[in-house]
Amino acid sequence: MPVVDMHTHVFPDWLAGDAVRRLEQSWGVLASFDGTAEGLHRHLEQSGVSLAVVQPVATTPGQVRTINDWLVQLSHRRILPFAAMHPDVQDQAEEVSRIAAMGFRGFKLHPELQGFRPDSDVMRPLYEATIRHGLVIFSCAGPYTGHMTVQSSPNRFSRVIDEYPELSLVLAHMGGYQQWDEVWTQLVGRRVFLETSFTLRPDGGLTPREFTELVCAHGAHRVLFGTDAPLADAAGEIHAIRSLDLASSDKEQILWRNAVRLLRLRRRIDEGLQGGWRRPRNGRSHGMLLGDGVPLGPFAGG
Ligand SMILES: [Zn+2]
Repeated sequence: MPVVDMHTHVFPDWLAGDAVRRLEQSWGVLASFDGTAEGLHRHLEQSGVSLAVVQPVATTPGQVRTINDWLVQLSHRRILPFAAMHPDVQDQAEEVSRIAAMGFRGFKLHPELQGFRPDSDVMRPLYEATIRHGLVIFSCAGPYTGHMTVQSSPNRFSRVIDEYPELSLVLAHMGGYQQWDEVWTQLVGRRVFLETSFTLRPDGGLTPREFTELVCAHGAHRVLFGTDAPLADAAGEIHAIRSLDLASSDKEQILWRNAVRLLRLRRRIDEGLQGGWRRPRNGRSHGMLLGDGVPLGPFAGG
Protein backbone atom coordinates (compact mmCIF):
# COMPACT_ATOMS: atom_id res chain seq x y z
CA MET A 1 0.00 0.00 0.00
CA PRO A 2 1.38 3.47 -0.82
CA VAL A 3 2.00 5.86 2.06
CA VAL A 4 2.19 9.66 1.78
CA ASP A 5 3.80 11.54 4.66
CA MET A 6 2.31 15.06 4.68
CA HIS A 7 4.76 16.54 7.15
CA THR A 8 8.56 16.30 6.91
CA HIS A 9 11.46 18.71 7.20
CA VAL A 10 14.72 18.94 5.30
CA PHE A 11 17.54 21.46 5.44
CA PRO A 12 20.38 22.41 3.13
CA ASP A 13 23.31 20.03 3.64
CA TRP A 14 25.51 22.67 5.27
CA LEU A 15 22.85 23.46 7.86
CA ALA A 16 21.23 20.08 8.49
CA GLY A 17 23.55 18.91 11.29
CA ASP A 18 23.00 22.01 13.43
CA ALA A 19 19.31 22.23 12.68
CA VAL A 20 18.64 18.63 13.61
CA ARG A 21 20.70 18.89 16.81
CA ARG A 22 18.66 21.92 17.88
CA LEU A 23 15.39 20.14 17.12
CA GLU A 24 16.49 17.09 19.10
CA GLN A 25 17.31 19.29 22.08
CA SER A 26 14.15 21.36 22.05
CA TRP A 27 11.81 18.41 21.52
CA GLY A 28 13.69 15.79 23.52
CA VAL A 29 13.59 13.29 20.67
CA LEU A 30 16.14 11.39 18.63
CA ALA A 31 16.06 12.34 14.94
CA SER A 32 15.12 9.59 12.52
CA PHE A 33 17.45 10.89 9.78
CA ASP A 34 20.15 13.52 9.37
CA GLY A 35 17.90 16.31 8.05
CA THR A 36 19.31 16.34 4.49
CA ALA A 37 17.26 15.60 1.38
CA GLU A 38 19.40 12.55 0.71
CA GLY A 39 18.81 11.39 4.29
CA LEU A 40 15.06 11.87 3.86
CA HIS A 41 15.11 9.77 0.72
CA ARG A 42 16.89 6.96 2.54
CA HIS A 43 14.43 7.27 5.41
CA LEU A 44 11.52 6.91 2.97
CA GLU A 45 12.95 3.72 1.53
CA GLN A 46 13.67 2.23 4.94
CA SER A 47 10.31 3.08 6.47
CA GLY A 48 8.04 2.25 3.54
CA VAL A 49 6.89 5.80 2.75
CA SER A 50 6.18 6.36 -0.96
CA LEU A 51 6.24 10.14 -0.98
CA ALA A 52 7.05 12.87 1.53
CA VAL A 53 5.77 16.43 1.55
CA VAL A 54 8.36 18.89 2.89
CA GLN A 55 6.98 21.67 5.10
CA PRO A 56 9.48 24.55 5.35
CA VAL A 57 9.21 27.29 7.97
CA ALA A 58 10.29 30.84 7.13
CA THR A 59 10.83 32.70 10.40
CA THR A 60 11.31 36.05 8.64
CA PRO A 61 9.54 37.38 5.53
CA GLY A 62 12.89 38.04 3.87
CA GLN A 63 13.62 34.31 3.77
CA VAL A 64 10.56 33.25 1.81
CA ARG A 65 11.96 33.59 -1.73
CA THR A 66 15.39 32.22 -0.86
CA ILE A 67 13.89 29.11 0.70
CA ASN A 68 11.44 28.62 -2.17
CA ASP A 69 14.15 28.93 -4.81
CA TRP A 70 16.08 26.22 -2.98
CA LEU A 71 13.03 23.99 -2.48
CA VAL A 72 12.00 23.99 -6.12
CA GLN A 73 15.12 22.06 -7.10
CA LEU A 74 14.51 19.46 -4.37
CA SER A 75 11.37 18.32 -6.11
CA HIS A 76 11.59 14.64 -6.90
CA ARG A 77 9.23 11.78 -7.64
CA ARG A 78 9.21 10.95 -3.94
CA ILE A 79 9.70 14.40 -2.44
CA LEU A 80 7.06 17.10 -2.89
CA PRO A 81 8.08 20.39 -1.31
CA PHE A 82 5.46 22.83 -0.10
CA ALA A 83 6.59 26.45 -0.29
CA ALA A 84 7.62 28.61 2.61
CA MET A 85 5.42 31.64 3.33
CA HIS A 86 5.35 34.39 5.95
CA PRO A 87 2.34 36.69 6.55
CA ASP A 88 4.62 39.73 6.91
CA VAL A 89 5.84 39.65 3.29
CA GLN A 90 5.37 42.98 1.56
CA ASP A 91 2.52 41.82 -0.67
CA GLN A 92 0.82 38.58 0.39
CA ALA A 93 -1.21 38.17 -2.80
CA GLU A 94 1.82 38.68 -5.02
CA GLU A 95 3.88 36.18 -3.02
CA VAL A 96 1.11 33.59 -3.22
CA SER A 97 0.95 34.13 -7.01
CA ARG A 98 4.69 33.58 -7.24
CA ILE A 99 4.39 30.36 -5.24
CA ALA A 100 1.64 29.13 -7.57
CA ALA A 101 3.63 30.09 -10.67
CA MET A 102 6.63 28.11 -9.39
CA GLY A 103 4.46 24.99 -9.35
CA PHE A 104 4.07 24.49 -5.61
CA ARG A 105 0.78 22.89 -4.57
CA GLY A 106 0.67 24.64 -1.24
CA PHE A 107 2.64 26.40 1.45
CA LYS A 108 3.35 26.15 5.12
CA LEU A 109 2.40 28.58 7.88
CA HIS A 110 3.60 28.46 11.49
CA PRO A 111 1.57 30.90 13.65
CA GLU A 112 3.71 30.31 16.74
CA LEU A 113 7.12 30.83 15.13
CA GLN A 114 5.84 33.54 12.77
CA GLY A 115 3.90 35.40 15.47
CA PHE A 116 0.46 35.87 13.91
CA ARG A 117 -3.12 34.93 14.64
CA PRO A 118 -4.71 32.84 11.90
CA ASP A 119 -8.04 34.69 12.23
CA SER A 120 -6.52 38.17 12.08
CA ASP A 121 -7.66 40.59 9.33
CA VAL A 122 -4.04 40.84 8.23
CA MET A 123 -4.44 37.36 6.71
CA ARG A 124 -7.28 38.30 4.39
CA PRO A 125 -5.28 38.91 1.15
CA LEU A 126 -3.29 35.74 1.78
CA TYR A 127 -6.35 33.50 2.18
CA GLU A 128 -8.13 35.09 -0.78
CA ALA A 129 -5.10 34.61 -3.06
CA THR A 130 -4.71 31.01 -1.85
CA ILE A 131 -8.29 30.24 -2.83
CA ARG A 132 -7.88 32.00 -6.20
CA HIS A 133 -4.83 29.88 -7.07
CA GLY A 134 -6.27 26.62 -5.71
CA LEU A 135 -3.38 26.13 -3.30
CA VAL A 136 -3.36 24.25 0.00
CA ILE A 137 -2.29 25.77 3.32
CA PHE A 138 -0.56 23.51 5.82
CA SER A 139 -0.42 25.11 9.25
CA CYS A 140 1.06 24.06 12.53
CA ALA A 141 -1.61 24.00 15.20
CA GLY A 142 -1.38 24.15 18.96
CA PRO A 143 1.29 25.17 21.44
CA TYR A 144 4.96 25.28 20.52
CA THR A 145 7.73 24.33 22.89
CA GLY A 146 9.11 27.34 24.79
CA HIS A 147 6.23 29.65 23.74
CA MET A 148 3.90 30.76 26.53
CA THR A 149 0.90 31.77 24.42
CA VAL A 150 -0.94 29.86 21.70
CA GLN A 151 -1.78 31.75 18.50
CA SER A 152 -2.92 28.72 16.54
CA SER A 153 -5.82 27.49 18.62
CA PRO A 154 -8.69 25.41 17.22
CA ASN A 155 -10.98 28.28 18.12
CA ARG A 156 -9.14 30.71 15.83
CA PHE A 157 -8.96 28.21 12.98
CA SER A 158 -12.67 27.64 13.33
CA ARG A 159 -13.24 31.32 12.51
CA VAL A 160 -11.03 30.97 9.43
CA ILE A 161 -13.10 27.98 8.27
CA ASP A 162 -16.32 29.97 8.83
CA GLU A 163 -15.08 32.90 6.81
CA TYR A 164 -13.31 31.01 3.99
CA PRO A 165 -15.35 27.89 3.25
CA GLU A 166 -13.45 27.34 -0.02
CA LEU A 167 -10.00 27.36 1.59
CA SER A 168 -8.06 24.06 1.51
CA LEU A 169 -6.63 24.01 5.01
CA VAL A 170 -4.60 21.25 6.70
CA LEU A 171 -3.98 21.56 10.44
CA ALA A 172 -1.05 19.68 11.93
CA HIS A 173 -1.26 17.65 15.12
CA MET A 174 -4.97 16.88 14.67
CA GLY A 175 -5.95 20.55 14.80
CA GLY A 176 -4.20 21.53 18.04
CA TYR A 177 -1.76 19.44 19.98
CA GLN A 178 -3.11 18.71 23.48
CA GLN A 179 -6.01 21.10 22.93
CA TRP A 180 -8.31 18.19 22.44
CA ASP A 181 -11.43 19.64 24.10
CA GLU A 182 -11.30 22.65 21.78
CA VAL A 183 -10.58 20.41 18.77
CA TRP A 184 -13.76 18.49 19.58
CA THR A 185 -15.95 21.56 19.96
CA GLN A 186 -14.47 23.75 17.20
CA LEU A 187 -13.10 21.53 14.44
CA VAL A 188 -14.55 18.03 14.46
CA GLY A 189 -16.80 17.48 11.45
CA ARG A 190 -15.78 20.80 9.88
CA ARG A 191 -14.41 21.23 6.37
CA VAL A 192 -10.74 21.02 7.35
CA PHE A 193 -8.03 18.35 7.10
CA LEU A 194 -6.39 17.17 10.32
CA GLU A 195 -2.86 15.76 10.17
CA THR A 196 -1.72 13.03 12.55
CA SER A 197 1.88 13.84 13.60
CA PHE A 198 2.78 13.76 17.30
CA THR A 199 -0.72 12.74 18.35
CA LEU A 200 -0.49 8.96 18.66
CA ARG A 201 2.17 9.04 21.36
CA PRO A 202 2.31 7.81 24.90
CA ASP A 203 3.85 11.12 26.03
CA GLY A 204 0.95 13.55 25.92
CA GLY A 205 -0.83 12.68 22.70
CA LEU A 206 -4.08 10.77 22.33
CA THR A 207 -4.60 7.13 23.30
CA PRO A 208 -5.37 4.88 20.31
CA ARG A 209 -8.98 4.82 21.44
CA GLU A 210 -9.26 8.60 21.76
CA PHE A 211 -7.57 9.00 18.39
CA THR A 212 -9.97 6.53 16.76
CA GLU A 213 -12.99 8.31 18.23
CA LEU A 214 -11.71 11.62 16.92
CA VAL A 215 -11.14 10.19 13.42
CA CYS A 216 -14.58 8.57 13.31
CA ALA A 217 -16.32 11.75 14.45
CA HIS A 218 -14.39 14.01 12.07
CA GLY A 219 -14.45 11.62 9.12
CA ALA A 220 -11.46 9.57 7.91
CA HIS A 221 -11.79 11.31 4.52
CA ARG A 222 -10.43 14.46 6.19
CA VAL A 223 -7.47 12.99 8.08
CA LEU A 224 -3.95 12.95 6.62
CA PHE A 225 -0.98 10.91 7.76
CA GLY A 226 2.08 12.93 8.75
CA THR A 227 5.13 12.37 10.95
CA ASP A 228 7.07 15.62 11.40
CA ALA A 229 10.18 13.58 10.52
CA PRO A 230 13.04 13.81 11.39
CA LEU A 231 11.27 14.42 14.72
CA ALA A 232 9.60 11.03 14.40
CA ASP A 233 10.22 7.68 12.80
CA ALA A 234 7.82 7.00 9.94
CA ALA A 235 7.87 3.20 10.32
CA GLY A 236 6.64 3.47 13.92
CA GLU A 237 4.00 6.03 12.98
CA ILE A 238 2.70 3.88 10.11
CA HIS A 239 2.53 0.90 12.46
CA ALA A 240 0.55 2.99 14.96
CA ILE A 241 -2.05 3.87 12.30
CA ARG A 242 -2.25 0.30 10.99
CA SER A 243 -2.81 -1.00 14.54
CA LEU A 244 -5.87 1.17 15.11
CA ASP A 245 -9.33 -0.30 15.44
CA LEU A 246 -10.49 1.32 12.18
CA ALA A 247 -11.81 -0.12 8.90
CA SER A 248 -8.98 -0.81 6.48
CA SER A 249 -10.60 1.58 4.00
CA ASP A 250 -10.32 4.34 6.63
CA LYS A 251 -6.64 3.55 7.16
CA GLU A 252 -6.05 3.71 3.40
CA GLN A 253 -7.70 7.10 3.25
CA ILE A 254 -5.51 8.39 6.06
CA LEU A 255 -2.24 6.84 4.87
CA TRP A 256 -2.48 7.92 1.23
CA ARG A 257 -5.80 8.28 -0.54
CA ASN A 258 -6.73 11.66 0.93
CA ALA A 259 -3.29 13.11 0.15
CA VAL A 260 -3.45 11.82 -3.43
CA ARG A 261 -6.81 13.52 -3.87
CA LEU A 262 -5.83 16.78 -2.18
CA LEU A 263 -2.43 17.13 -3.87
CA ARG A 264 -3.38 15.61 -7.24
CA LEU A 265 -0.78 12.84 -7.00
CA ARG A 266 -2.72 10.19 -8.89
CA ARG A 267 -0.30 9.98 -11.79
CA ARG A 268 2.77 9.75 -9.55
CA ILE A 269 1.22 6.91 -7.60
CA ASP A 270 0.06 5.08 -10.75
CA GLU A 271 3.46 5.37 -12.40
CA GLY A 272 5.15 4.05 -9.29
CA LEU A 273 7.31 6.05 -7.01
CA GLN A 274 10.50 4.06 -7.22
CA GLY A 275 13.75 5.61 -8.31
CA GLY A 276 17.05 6.45 -6.69
CA TRP A 277 17.95 9.74 -5.15
CA ARG A 278 19.74 12.18 -7.43
CA ARG A 279 21.56 15.08 -5.88
CA PRO A 280 19.99 18.30 -7.23
CA ARG A 281 22.09 19.72 -10.04
CA ASN A 282 22.79 22.92 -8.14
CA GLY A 283 23.23 21.08 -4.86
CA ARG A 284 26.63 22.53 -4.22
CA SER A 285 25.33 26.07 -4.33
CA HIS A 286 23.03 25.74 -1.31
CA GLY A 287 25.67 27.01 1.06
CA MET A 288 26.33 30.01 -1.16
CA LEU A 289 22.68 30.70 -1.71
CA LEU A 290 21.65 30.58 1.92
CA GLY A 291 24.88 31.36 3.66
CA ASP A 292 25.15 34.88 2.33
CA GLY A 293 24.37 36.79 5.50
CA VAL A 294 21.35 34.64 6.20
CA PRO A 295 20.77 33.59 9.81
CA LEU A 296 19.99 29.97 10.57
CA GLY A 297 16.51 30.77 11.83
CA PRO A 298 14.41 30.31 8.70
CA PHE A 299 14.80 26.58 8.62
CA ALA A 300 13.38 26.02 12.05
CA GLY A 301 11.42 22.81 12.20
CA GLY A 302 8.29 21.94 14.08
ZN1 LIG B 1 6.86 20.20 11.53
